[in-house]
Amino acid sequence: MARAVRALRRAAGAAPGAAPGPGAAPGAEPGAEPGPGPGASGGPRVRFGPSPTGFLHLGGLRTALYNYIFAKKHQGTFILRVEDTDQSRVVPGAAEGIEDMLDWAGIPPDESPGRGGPAGPYVQSRRLELYGRAGAALLASGAAYRCFCSPQRLQLLRRDALRRQHTPRYDNRCRHLTPAEVAQKLSQGLDCVVRFRLEKGVEPFQDLVYGWNKHEVAEVEGDPVILKGDGFPTYHLANVVDDHYMGITHVLRGAEWLASTSKHLLLYKAFGWEPPRFGHLPLLLNKDGGKLSKRQGDIFLERFARDGFLPEALLDIVTNCGSGFTEKQMGRTLEELISQFEVGRITTHSALLDLEALPEFNRIHLTRHIENQGLRQKLVRELQGLVELVYGDQQVDPDVLEDEYVERVLLLRKGHISLLKSLVSSDYSYLWVRPLVSRQQLQTISAEADEIGKLVLGLMTRPAAALTVEELNKDLRSLQKQTRETKYSSMMQLLRLALSGCQHGPSVAEMMVTLGAEEVCGRIRRALSS
Ligand code: GLU
Repeated sequence: MARAVRALRRAAGAAPGAAPGPGAAPGAEPGAEPGPGPGASGGPRVRFGPSPTGFLHLGGLRTALYNYIFAKKHQGTFILRVEDTDQSRVVPGAAEGIEDMLDWAGIPPDESPGRGGPAGPYVQSRRLELYGRAGAALLASGAAYRCFCSPQRLQLLRRDALRRQHTPRYDNRCRHLTPAEVAQKLSQGLDCVVRFRLEKGVEPFQDLVYGWNKHEVAEVEGDPVILKGDGFPTYHLANVVDDHYMGITHVLRGAEWLASTSKHLLLYKAFGWEPPRFGHLPLLLNKDGGKLSKRQGDIFLERFARDGFLPEALLDIVTNCGSGFTEKQMGRTLEELISQFEVGRITTHSALLDLEALPEFNRIHLTRHIENQGLRQKLVRELQGLVELVYGDQQVDPDVLEDEYVERVLLLRKGHISLLKSLVSSDYSYLWVRPLVSRQQLQTISAEADEIGKLVLGLMTRPAAALTVEELNKDLRSLQKQTRETKYSSMMQLLRLALSGCQHGPSVAEMMVTLGAEEVCGRIRRALSS
């Protein structure tokens, strides 16, 4: 481990072109499940490279998650790298927010801006010197050249192409400047950028998801800018340089970058570096095939966290629509995602996300949390906090905040609720505050309200251990037979009203078990004496 880390440090300090790229395992069978590559931990090194332009959204979460589970499955390293080369789009605080949300989601990076690591810095704007040296190495070898074309000229080229209904592309004019011309322009202090010379005849590569691919980039685009006038790199240079110096072995990223990969491979070739393996993840789309809308703010993790969704439900839903598994299956835990994931099973068709199914995913994971003793205790505390927040000033009985009571509520409602916070909605207010119900209200349901009340009070004298939903259901059935003219359904309606002030909700027997004998008696007595 220490040796590999030292090697990485050395590589990061060495001149571009000189360091042997860790790259993918040489000789790896294309298309085969990649084995552990030569990362610092002995396993593969993968990275999630978001641009800090806003909150982390579900598309980003999915990319991060696939990288995370790939790394963990192969005992590798998951890196968060902040790609802020387009400074005009940087949103202050966004990078920290993204790292926080990865922590919240339970997929924390091993190396990141917040945690540091042997291949840092992990923010591109702090690696400018490295890109500068890489650009200089390409200039020296002739793989790149300085371009002095003015913005006005580029604009004219653009307009002209559009007028002729062509895709705008740079005409590579500055490729042909002689060294003397370059020196002269530099001495005049003219602004310039560095462009990469795109060579024809790219070699095909085998994408882990899309299979064999190649894009003759030189035929469709002009030579791309790799270093801007202000010394900042563009994405293409920065990602190649960083993936190399960070020892990235596998690049799992969005399919929008598939067409750029040939260009990146040309860069690797120009540097003399071994490239990583690439796997492109199909787009994540709405259920109807439309683009996921970030604008409505409805796909940001912060929103889901605020609305009370469990991170596991989000991980589950994005992997269920995104493939990578033998079969679709709801309710996978992160451990199961890691053990069952196979990159070769990711399909090339777009992943359709049905957010309407999210509550159901959450219900399944919430049920699992309630069933787990340790996780249940966390839910108890969370629910106590919610109760205080929502009912703090109305709640009459401090007992409702006791662990035992809150735990009972959770166990009895397990499987029936999708969100924990629904337990503090008005439908469940009876759990936390006493309802205001009058004798008259009960009597409109049945003239035998007093008799029914007395019978139920009798039922409640039995030992607490006998207060189970099954037992009570039976008892309530036989109790109804002792009434003269009240139907079972009316008796239930009456009791439900007396206990909860509501006309619907959990079964009366469940309400009784939840509230406990003393509270049930208190509520019935109070209603009948009002
Ligand atoms: N910064 C790029 C993005 O936000 C990452 C692309 C990559 O992973 O190479 O899409």
